[in-house]
Amino acid sequence: MDADALRQYLEFYQDLHIQTLYRRTAVAQAPVVVAAPEPKMELPPLAPPNDSLLKIIQDLGDCHRCKLGDARNKIVFGVGDEKAQLVFVGEGPGADEDEQGIPFVGRAGQLLTQMIENTSKKEGIPLKRGDVYICNVVKCRPPGNRTPEPDEMEICGEFLYRQLSTIRPKAICALGGTAARAVTGHKEGVTKMRGKWFKWQDIPVMVTYHPSYLLRPYNENAKREAWEDLKKVLHFVYD
Ligand code: URA
Repeated sequence: MDADALRQYLEFYQDLHIQTLYRRTAVAQAPVVVAAPEPKMELPPLAPPNDSLLKIIQDLGDCHRCKLGDARNKIVFGVGDEKAQLVFVGEGPGADEDEQGIPFVGRAGQLLTQMIENTSKKEGIPLKRGDVYICNVVKCRPPGNRTPEPDEMEICGEFLYRQLSTIRPKAICALGGTAARAVTGHKEGVTKMRGKWFKWQDIPVMVTYHPSYLLRPYNENAKREAWEDLKKVLHFVYD
């Protein structure tokens, strides 16, 4: 390769890398107003036109894009109504979810279902779990239920981005600190963020505690707060 060709090759890859970073940043945060370099080559769009949950599942395939793919049993894509007005986003599948391929089916999931169904009923807007959409930041179980690592969240974030873009709910409820940080791009802890509205693109995001945190016996106060947060979202979406 002569010197000119080598320079062109390096420039091309440097640009491609910058574009990729720019596009990935947009997964978690409202688009930062930074001029992206003019594309020299067509990258596949993060959310292609006429995207659908089915297409996203097909593109996800038998995913091994990150190391979580090697340890999982089933991919846990998401469940619920493709036209849901409200989407709940958790952190990542646990053991029960990994076995069944469905999000929030273990103890924390049962609590989430109760929270959705009982609170909505009490508030006069009766909902079933199937009326909303539930998914996670990462689609494969992190070994030992550890917190997903940044590269795992970044890679899987592309699919979460497409899910949210396709559904375009009226609001998103982020469950726990990991989901809150991934969806809003803010870095505070969940205690500071809960009960407040943030945004994912132009969609309002309410942050609340993760149901597994609420299962701990000494968290009565957090439970009350989570119920308040949920009521806020339900009234915002369905009133
Ligand atoms: N915890 C999560 O964050 N997601 C699930 O699907 C189950 C437990």
